[in-house]
Amino acid sequence: MRVFKWSSDFETEKESPIVPMWISFPNLKAHFYEKLALLLIAKIVGKPLYVDEATATQFLPSVARVYVEYDYKKEPMNQVWIVVKDRDSGAVTRSYIQRVEFAKMSTYCEHCCHVGHTSSTCLVLGNRLTTPGKVQVSKTLREEKREMLKKEAEQKQKQEKGKEKEPMLLGQLKQNT
Ligand SMILES: [Zn+2]
Repeated sequence: MRVFKWSSDFETEKESPIVPMWISFPNLKAHFYEKLALLLIAKIVGKPLYVDEATATQFLPSVARVYVEYDYKKEPMNQVWIVVKDRDSGAVTRSYIQRVEFAKMSTYCEHCCHVGHTSSTCLVLGNRLTTPGKVQVSKTLREEKREMLKKEAEQKQKQEKGKEKEPMLLGQLKQNT
């Protein structure tokens, strides 16, 4: 079962990109463990829903955890910038970079509006994979290399078209991959 945030434009066939999830702040400075401070930090990542019991009571203060509404459409965030100001003068007294960890970082497909895959691995899009270059696939290095070699071979093929060298080129491609 999945819980979704209700909104007026909610469409049942589309999954909301806003999903509740745990985020944690490893090695958080002790004085930020205070609930209000934590909520303030968590707010940068997503709308805080609640603070982990252990975190709130400082029973297990090794890691601070907050449950937030995370929007998959937002840029991924792995750190936040904490600025501490003097209460009276308003001057910045300290600033830290705080790492943010996500309990489970899933993906969101912009195409079919479902959580769990990206548009590059979307089955709905996959059915139309016949138009080359239209789909942006996140390639592994190996795939990229293979494609590069393929392109090179194709270019050579074009250049040497009519010279009947195709079988040799195919042989090279096989060796290199
Ligand atoms: Zn999809």
